[in-house]
Formats: sequence, C-alpha cells, structure tokens
Amino acid sequence: HLAVNALRASYGPIEVLKGVSFSMEKGEIIGLVGPSGSGKSTVLRTLVGLTQATAGSVTIHEKSIDYSSGASVRDARDQMAIVFQQYNLFQNMSVLKNVTVAPEKIKKRPKQEVRAQAEKLLAMVGLADKLSAYPDQLSGGQQQRVAIARALALKPEILLLDEVTSALDPELVNEVLDTIRRLASEGITMILVSHEMSFIREVADKVIFMDEGEVIEEGPPKQMFDAPNTERARNFFGKIL
Ligand code: ATP
Ligand code: MG
Repeated sequence: HLAVNALRASYGPIEVLKGVSFSMEKGEIIGLVGPSGSGKSTVLRTLVGLTQATAGSVTIHEKSIDYSSGASVRDARDQMAIVFQQYNLFQNMSVLKNVTVAPEKIKKRPKQEVRAQAEKLLAMVGLADKLSAYPDQLSGGQQQRVAIARALALKPEILLLDEVTSALDPELVNEVLDTIRRLASEGITMILVSHEMSFIREVADKVIFMDEGEVIEEGPPKQMFDAPNTERARNFFGKIL
C-alpha cells in the first residue's frame, strides 16, 4: 500500500506540485494523465527523490516518510524504480550486464542469483535471445524493454513508467505496450504516465487526472473517460477522444 500525502515541489520560485495526494494498493495499476506541464513527470521524479519535495509525506506499508527531508526519502526511493522516455542504457555493457550491474554492485546481491533473475526478466520482456547484444545493436523498442527489465531487477515494490513509448517509432510502440500488458498480468504494481489513452483505459485500474500541479479527479477508467465529474476532466478527455 502506498499513500502520497499533500506532496509539494517547486522549480525555483515556481511551485509545480501544489499538494498532490493519492493512494494505491499492491498489484494496482494507476494511469496518471493530464495536459503537458501539469506535473506528471514531477510527481514521479519527486517520488524517487530526483526532485526534492518542499512538503508532504509518503506512506509505504504503514511507514510514513517525510518527503521534505532529503535523507529519509532514501527509504522510499529504494522501493521504487523509474523508467524514462529516454532509456539511457549503459552503451559499453551487454544487455545482461545492463540488468545485473546495479543489483550486483550496489545491492551486493550474489552473482548467481542476480544473473538467474536477469535472465528471467529478459525472457519476460521478450529478449531471451539478446543477452550478449550491446545496446547499439538493438531497436529502440528492444532498448526500452531492456530498461524495463533493468528497473525490475532492483525488485521495486512499485514501477514508475514515464512516457516509455513516446520516443519510439510508431511501429515499435506496440511491442513495449505488450511488455507492459505482460507486467500487468504478472501483478506488478505500476504508475503509468502515458499519452496512449486507449492503452491507459485498457490496463489501468484507476485513472488520476492532474492539471496545474493538482489532482483534479480520480476514478475507474470507464468513469473518467466516459463521464468525468469535473469540468476540467471533461474538457481534457473530451479533447483527446
Ligand atoms: P509532459 O506531459 O509535457 O511531460 P508533465 O505533466 O510531465 O508534462 P512536468 O514535466 O512535471 O509536466 O512539468 C511541470 C511543470 O514544471 C511545467 O510547468 C514545467 O515547465 C516545469 N518544469 C519541469 N521541469 C523543470 C525544470 N527542470 N526546471 C524548471 N521547470 C521545470
Ligand atoms: Mg512529463
């Protein structure tokens, strides 16, 4: 169980998260949507500590963590992993090495176990035959799937995906969406930020609509897409449908 309570964040003098709250259960998939600049990426960045919150707390498994104190955020950050639009693989390492390096070197987990887990994850994202390939030998979609496997190798409680398909050529989008469907069916807890609205509608258990740094409305996909309660959500979903 994760609860985000009144999270605030600023870039310089400009407050871009104005008290964001929501909660999610284990195994749940949240679709975080909203106009460009509404603060979706900042929510994810703040959750993993890449952007420092100015106020707010996050409760994970009943343990409340004060997010305005940088130090304690580490506890929470360890339980989440994020994948960005730009996959940023280590170019000088094989696919397998990309996935094993952090669990081995940072988490100091046993080599054998890490390798077995990496092989399993790479099979799950459909890359069992690419273990020894290097990133520049892979398509964008394949690289993005390696990035997802690499994030999962950290055994996060929650996987955060920020527009993971938006830098891809259209013909490669589906293979990454298929991978996310697969993760969903495996029960992986995820927060998905995506402009692929039909996909969000299909896989999300709950849709959260943000605008101007605030959560405006949340609900089941069907309600949010077909009959949102707020004018602002109606406007947003009306425009994109
Ligand atoms: P998009 O759909 O375009 O990705 P978003 O909802 O992810 O948008 P954010 O990237 O979270 O939006 O940005 C929220 C606000 O913060 C925007 O007004 C943006 O211009 C501003 N912002 C984001 N990153 C920075 C930064 N590094 N420095 C200053 N302002 C920033
Ligand atoms: Mg963004």
